[in-house]
Amino acid sequence: MHYDYLIVGAGLFGAVFASEMKKRGKTSLVIDKRDHIAGNIYTKEWNDIHVHWYGAHIFHTSNKEIWDYVNQYAEFNHFVNSPVAVYGEELYNLPFNMNTFSRLWNVRTPKQAQEKIREQIANLHIEEPKNLEEQALSLVGTDVYEKLIKGYTEKQWGRDCKELPAFIIKRLPLRFTYDNNYFNDRYQGIPIGGYTKIVEKMLDGIPVILNMPYKEFIKKNKEKEKNADTFTKIVYTGMIDEYFNYCLGELEYRSLKFEHELVPGEENYQGNAVVNYTQREIPYTRIIEHKHFEFGKQQDTVITKEFPADWKKGDEPYYPINNEKNNALFQAYCRLAENEENVLFGGRLGQYRYYDMDKVIEAALAMVSQEDML
Ligand code: UDP
Repeated sequence: MHYDYLIVGAGLFGAVFASEMKKRGKTSLVIDKRDHIAGNIYTKEWNDIHVHWYGAHIFHTSNKEIWDYVNQYAEFNHFVNSPVAVYGEELYNLPFNMNTFSRLWNVRTPKQAQEKIREQIANLHIEEPKNLEEQALSLVGTDVYEKLIKGYTEKQWGRDCKELPAFIIKRLPLRFTYDNNYFNDRYQGIPIGGYTKIVEKMLDGIPVILNMPYKEFIKKNKEKEKNADTFTKIVYTGMIDEYFNYCLGELEYRSLKFEHELVPGEENYQGNAVVNYTQREIPYTRIIEHKHFEFGKQQDTVITKEFPADWKKGDEPYYPINNEKNNALFQAYCRLAENEENVLFGGRLGQYRYYDMDKVIEAALAMVSQEDML
C-alpha cells in the first residue's frame, strides 16, 4: 500500500500530525515500539484510577487555540497543580510564593519577603546568572535554594547546579502573592477519562502497528519486496541521534524509573497529587497520588515514586539535556536532517527540546501548516 506518511511514534506529536493529515484527506501509517499508544502521556487504568504511567502530566497552556484544540478531544476538569515540598520534617508550598516564604521566615508581607531575599543575595554579586545555581540564588536567595532547589535539581539531573542551564529553573513561577498554582498559564486541567483516550480519538481510523521499532519495520518492509508499503514522507518522533546511528556522537538524556504501587484500603495516602522530596539523600524526587488528579473517591489508591536515573542506550529517554555541548551536537544533526529527503523530525526527542504538551501540539500543528504550504 502507499501512504502519504509513515509516522514513527504514536505519542502526542505523531497523533496530532496524523489526525490533522487525515482531515486533509492524507493517509498515514503509525508505528510505535511500545505495546500501547500515547507515548509518555499514556494513562493506564488500575482499580478505576487513571495512572500516569510515565510521570505526572498536567495540561496547561496560555494559548487559547491550543486549549480549544485539545478540548475537542476531551473534557478537562478543574485540577490546579499545587505541589507540596517535603524537606526533612518541614513542609512547604510550591511554587515559591508567599506561603513558602512565610513558612520559611515567618514573614507576612511581600516587602518583608523581598527584603529577606535581598539580604541573602547581597554578598553574592551575581549580575548575569550563568547557570542554574546563579539563576536560582539571584531569584530566591540561599535558603530556598538550599532547601528546595539544590538537592532536588541535582538528583533530578544528576549534575551539579553549576553545570545546568539557567532556563530549567525559569520554568517555575516565583510570586510574591499567596498563590500555590504551579503554573502561570491561563488554562489548566486533567482530561476526564485519562490522556490515552485523547490519543485514541486522534488516531481513530488510522492504522497503528504496536511493538514495532522503526528499524525493524524498515527491514521487514524491505523484505516484502514488491509488496512493500511505500511512503511519500516519514515523520520521525524518536531520538534524532538514534535515527542517524549516532554517527556524530550521542546526545545526552536524563531517564526516570517509576515505581507504581497499589495501596489497598488506603483512601488518601498523601492528601495531594504531587509531593516533592527535595533532599538529596532521598532517592526519588516525588510521589504522585494519581486519584487526586481527578478528585477520586475510590477506596484504594495508586502511588508512584519517581526516581531520576542516568540514561544509557536502551533506556527510556525522558528529558533532553539542553546544555551547550548537546545543543551544538543537536544542531549538527539538524544539518544532516536537512539533507535527509522527505524525513521530518518532531516531538521532544526528534527536536531535542524540553517541551510541555501544549508546545508539542503547537509544534505538530506548525509542521502540518508547513506541509500545507508545499
Ligand atoms: N525544581 C526544584 N524543586 C522542586 C521542583 C522543581 O528545584 O521542588 C526545579 C528543578 O530544577 C526541576 C525544575 O525546577 O528540574 C523544573 O521542574 P518541573 O516540575 O517543571 O519539572 P518536570 O515536571 O518537567 O519534570
